[in-house]
Amino acid sequence: MDLGPVTGSAAAEPHRFPCPACGSNLRFAPDLDKLKCAHCGHEETIPETRGRIPELDLRAVEGGAVPATALAEVRVTRCANCGAEVEFDADLHARECPFCASPIVTDTGVTRLIKPQAQLPFLLSEEQSRSAMNRWLGGLWFAPNDLKKYARAERAMDGMYVPYWTYDAATRSRYSGQRGTVYYETRPVTVIVNGQRKTQMQQIARIRWQRASGGVARNFDDVLVLGSKSLPKAFTDALAPWDLSALSAYEPRFLAGFRAEGYTIPVEKAYGEARAIMNATIEHDVRRDIGGDQQRIERIETDVGALTFKHVLLPVWLAAYRYRGKSFRFVVNGRTGTVQGERPWSSAKIALVIALALLIAAVMAYAQIGRGY
Ligand SMILES: [Zn+2]
Ligand SMILES: [Zn+2]
Repeated sequence: MDLGPVTGSAAAEPHRFPCPACGSNLRFAPDLDKLKCAHCGHEETIPETRGRIPELDLRAVEGGAVPATALAEVRVTRCANCGAEVEFDADLHARECPFCASPIVTDTGVTRLIKPQAQLPFLLSEEQSRSAMNRWLGGLWFAPNDLKKYARAERAMDGMYVPYWTYDAATRSRYSGQRGTVYYETRPVTVIVNGQRKTQMQQIARIRWQRASGGVARNFDDVLVLGSKSLPKAFTDALAPWDLSALSAYEPRFLAGFRAEGYTIPVEKAYGEARAIMNATIEHDVRRDIGGDQQRIERIETDVGALTFKHVLLPVWLAAYRYRGKSFRFVVNGRTGTVQGERPWSSAKIALVIALALLIAAVMAYAQIGRGY
């Protein structure tokens, strides 16, 4: 499915919610769980719709049938260095890329994308996520001190809604394979005891294989796959788990004052990864169904029914630094405060540890010679 670029000037407005009291922009304040005006202090509650969030039919989307109501036209800026596509914001366009701190970002115009169906709103404020990041950095003894100092400096972090796909499916699988049962055989073996050859009885484990076949079924709910490549998968995987049961129907007011990254991996492509996650679970189910002590799987055939998906936005606080010509990125789960990032190494500290280890070895060797060994 290629939705293609959009011609014309029907650019969607960025998420702006003017304050009814003074007219400046309201921002979503995670610590209050409200919209707040930084100018006059006015606060507003955001209605939240929990529970059943509508899903889209993946097969229909693959066939090119995307309901017009599911699409939105978004103006994005693209980072030439890391490829991140971030929703255009007139106030922020001159800034560096929030993902890699590189200054080259270009306005790519309007793109037609599948709208988000849900989001997890930020729970942690910027201040709370900064302290989580500092605790994490503090635990990295090998990190260079000046990078730690730099990261601790009062520099704004970027609150970013990162695009994910979640998939639901009802699967039915038929399998064939073999069930292995361990049994023991008693056999005479020759051993040498005190220089004498003797015959002893010994138990030897063997496996009896029997044919096995059958079926397993499972209902998958919210199999989560990242929809972009601007953050390394290792980082975003390590931010899990996400409390997806708290997803609420898409409400742009939760994005007020934050930015949203546009997805760059289409839903039908990301499905390959979702399917691999499902297949691993199905294989586990098949092994349990075969039973016995060991299993051999020869064939699994799976029918995937009721295949639906949602486009969801998950909250991440980002900090990107250029340090000695390299990009360092730290990401904080905006719900739980879990931190991931590039692990910076200080070569001076590593050299110090090696020198200390050599010194200790030398002292110990000297002490042993001293004792006359
Ligand atoms: Zn106001
Ligand atoms: Zn970038």
